[in-house]
Amino acid sequence: PNHNRVEEAAQFMHAHDRFLVLSHVNPDGDATGSALGVVMILEQLGKEYVVVNEGETPVKFNFLPRFDQLRNLSKQPLDETFEAVIAVDCADESRMGDVRSLFGSGVALLNIDHHPTNDGFGTINLIRTDAAATAEILYDVALAAGVTFNEELALCIYTGLLTDTGGFRYSNTSPYVMEIASQLLRYGVKPGEVAERCLEEITFAHVKILRLALQSLELSHQNLVASITVRQEDFVQSGAEREDAGGLVNYCRNIEGVEVGVSFVESEAGAVKVSMRARDRVDVSAIAKKLGGGGHAKAAGCTIRGSLQQAKETVRLVLEEALGVNSNE
Ligand code: 5GP
Ligand code: MN
Ligand code: MN
Repeated sequence: PNHNRVEEAAQFMHAHDRFLVLSHVNPDGDATGSALGVVMILEQLGKEYVVVNEGETPVKFNFLPRFDQLRNLSKQPLDETFEAVIAVDCADESRMGDVRSLFGSGVALLNIDHHPTNDGFGTINLIRTDAAATAEILYDVALAAGVTFNEELALCIYTGLLTDTGGFRYSNTSPYVMEIASQLLRYGVKPGEVAERCLEEITFAHVKILRLALQSLELSHQNLVASITVRQEDFVQSGAEREDAGGLVNYCRNIEGVEVGVSFVESEAGAVKVSMRARDRVDVSAIAKKLGGGGHAKAAGCTIRGSLQQAKETVRLVLEEALGVNSNE
């Protein structure tokens, strides 16, 4: 059945002339690589497209082809309603942010994703939860669409694979991921250069906000939970932007004996971005879903309206339940 869905997705790209291509708010390497990968396929098919995100795409991805085509909707509003949409790495319509306003409910919508929490909002839903990255699924779609793999398309797909597997380290790193990655290197992708940009290189502002955030690191739930908190004033003091605050949650989860790492980032007044990373005992996508978010078993997130204190209390209670332990010990 999945094979047919891949064919349907490829057909969709052939069948329409002009597309809106979107991913999710605060895009990561898979969202950006997959969106620009779709763009590279559409270009080969001679199609028109607009590739949009609600906000800015992190500049660290500016080595990707057509990065300059990524439109920041908040700065460049669009007066167009689309009839064909391709959504990648986007689990539900709320993850599109304001980009959702660019099409109506009767739209032809191809939904390519790997999140178990995807709610099937498309007219064609190519959802493979066993895929490590949306880019992995896109590799199959590109083959089915009959396009020629070149270095640029390969780079987009490789970036999605690399980032969503944490540099081919997470448990989602399957034999197929490695096979595809091997193929992509044959098309000219330079793995050292991509890893340098996506995984190694950090901004000075990141280190400065890390220094502040580490002071807030605390253990709870009988040392099974480690959490880190970033306040708005930490952004002001460090000069960091929101994208500089990524990855802090990994310091929590990586601590020996910890089952769940959590970061609480006060992204704006009255809104707290919660990121969760799990080892083995807890499925954090279920917890995130309860709180209005989503993600994967070992990496999930949500945004909680309210103060930092309120968000921490909410998460403390759901983790107590999930781990079956008292949080104060
Ligand atoms: P992060 O914690 O790095 O922002 O996200 C980890 C994973 O959870 C990613 O797969 C991401 O797509 C998902 N995720 C994070 N925040 C949200 C959210 O608010 N809603 C949903 N549906 N998924 C989220
Ligand atoms: Mn993503
Ligand atoms: Mn992904």
